[in-house]
Amino acid sequence: MLGQMQEWTMRITHVIDHAAREAGDREIVTRWADGSETRTDWKGIRTDALKMAQALQALGIRKGDRVASLAMNHSRHLVSWYGVAGMGGVLHTVNPRLFEDQLEYIVNHAEDKVMLYDAAFQPIIDKMREKWTTVEHYICYDSGEQSQSFEDWIGAQDGDFEWVTGAETDPCMICYTSGTTGNPKGVQYEHRSTLMHALAGLQPAAFNFSASSVMLPVVPMFHAASWGLPYAGAMAGIKFVFSAVNDPAVLHQLLIDEGVTDSAGVPTVWLAHFQYCDKEGIDLPPLKAATIGGSACPRFMIERLMKNGTRVQHAWGMTETSPIGTVGGPTWDWDQLSFEEKVDKTAMQGRPVFGVELRTVSLDDMVTELPRDGESSGALQIRGPWIIKRYFKAEQDAVGNDGWFDTGDVGIIHPDGTLQLTDRTKDVIKSGGEWISSVELENAACGHPAVAEAACVGMPHPKWDERPVLFVVKKEGQEVEAETIVNFLSDKVAKWWLPDAVEFVDDIPHTATGKISKKDLRDRFADYKLEA
Ligand code: ADP
Repeated sequence: MLGQMQEWTMRITHVIDHAAREAGDREIVTRWADGSETRTDWKGIRTDALKMAQALQALGIRKGDRVASLAMNHSRHLVSWYGVAGMGGVLHTVNPRLFEDQLEYIVNHAEDKVMLYDAAFQPIIDKMREKWTTVEHYICYDSGEQSQSFEDWIGAQDGDFEWVTGAETDPCMICYTSGTTGNPKGVQYEHRSTLMHALAGLQPAAFNFSASSVMLPVVPMFHAASWGLPYAGAMAGIKFVFSAVNDPAVLHQLLIDEGVTDSAGVPTVWLAHFQYCDKEGIDLPPLKAATIGGSACPRFMIERLMKNGTRVQHAWGMTETSPIGTVGGPTWDWDQLSFEEKVDKTAMQGRPVFGVELRTVSLDDMVTELPRDGESSGALQIRGPWIIKRYFKAEQDAVGNDGWFDTGDVGIIHPDGTLQLTDRTKDVIKSGGEWISSVELENAACGHPAVAEAACVGMPHPKWDERPVLFVVKKEGQEVEAETIVNFLSDKVAKWWLPDAVEFVDDIPHTATGKISKKDLRDRFADYKLEA
């Protein structure tokens, strides 16, 4: 006999229905690129999403079709998240920072039928229009000069629409990884996975939202589903403040004026904010919580935010994990820890939220599971209901026979479950059969006052297989010798980890999402030779 509870299909439409019903008047504020501001609320978002769903159907878009957006954070983009899912479509959030060949590839690969875009990205549209072979309709989120405007387009509908129903496992969104090697790969999120991921995001151990939260997400809506915030926020009925520009002065003013309690972004966002406050001689805004992830959050950042009274939620994840894997927050021993110890702990990547499981396996054989002893570092693997099984249109699963997805990250799991990332499997350096973390060397080097940026790469060595070489960009106007850097590192890492060479370069290559591209760095120094 089955259980006897009511049927309730896990579809995203429940989320927006709930927000409109239970928190209908909570504001959604947008500060647009031209400096103007608009205010709507969850009821307004739902009404517009219904109209948008109708408008899509009127264009001939059907269940399962992909609809692309090339846009920053704003309320019309939020409407699209719910409007596309609500008519059974799949929203493809395109990252405008991708390189041209990647943009061409992903839109064609996803077979996007509609392109919704910000006027600010008109130059990209003009350049790509010829190359995108499947896009039939272009709609501009702002008052479009070249295309119909979003407001006019949905304004022609009355909103009398029933959400399209279907299976929980129907897709509702697709995001492409920026791909450090080969073409970007599509990760298709389901209604069910998205809903469960959003529920997980609500936990006190994750975003810690309440009905009084006011969130300004700086993490873009085009990257990794904006960490699921637009869904989790709707579930909790929070107020959202969006900014279509990422200028620190604009963000700062919004944080103050709108009474923002929570924000989320990659470390460089906070770095820019610190620099702005220092230049202006003003305090950081009185934020309750800052979620920081996408790359490792440096210690000084954690310290400064914590001294500001801001709880730092250091999170780890990837496009393939929807993206929440782990989030840092106070653990049960928190009150007994000194400030320094709290910073140490926060500098690690946090603990898995309910729903995902983590393990590390030996880098030598990729199968032997390692103990959670806070010391053994290995390949990080993950499984759970919002973790990828197969890339879009791929012929094979992306997981092993035992269902674990290999993240490509290298980490240590501590006895209390805290994850500490130490490297990427492609970048960790194997010297004489032992592993050296390139990331730890880089982080240590960045602590030197003359170093603006550092990247460490394993270079072929006749005796040790590989030895670390550190590439350093000096801060403007600073002079420093290679030997000084090595001396500086000598009490920070094991002696045999010290780089064999330090090379000064004018710049370090980055991926479209701003991460150091070691592949490009290796290509640039393909002929590099270390002596025995
Ligand atoms: P892309 O692959 O498009 O660059 P992702 O957001 O999917 O973007 O990148 C995921 C990767 O970013 C992770 O596998 C990890 O290497 C890195 N990363 C994410 N969060 C953290 C973090 N808190 N600390 C260190 N690295 C992180």
